[in-house]
Amino acid sequence: MAVPKRKVSQSRRDMRRAHDALKNNAYQECANCGELKRPHHVCGSCGHYGDREVVEASA
Ligand SMILES: [Zn+2]
Repeated sequence: MAVPKRKVSQSRRDMRRAHDALKNNAYQECANCGELKRPHHVCGSCGHYGDREVVEASA
C-alpha cells in the first residue's frame, strides 16, 4: 500500500531497506582450466561447459 514519504519514520524505512543489499555473484572453478566462472555458465576462458568444449576459446 502506498504511504506518504513523511509518514514513514527513518527507523521503519531503514528496517525495510535492511534486506535490500545485493549479494556477491557466485563463482566456481572451471573443471577444465581452473578459471573462476559462474555456475551453469560456459567458461569464459576455455569455452567449456560440463565436460566438453561448446564455444571456441576467445583469445
Ligand atoms: Zn575453463
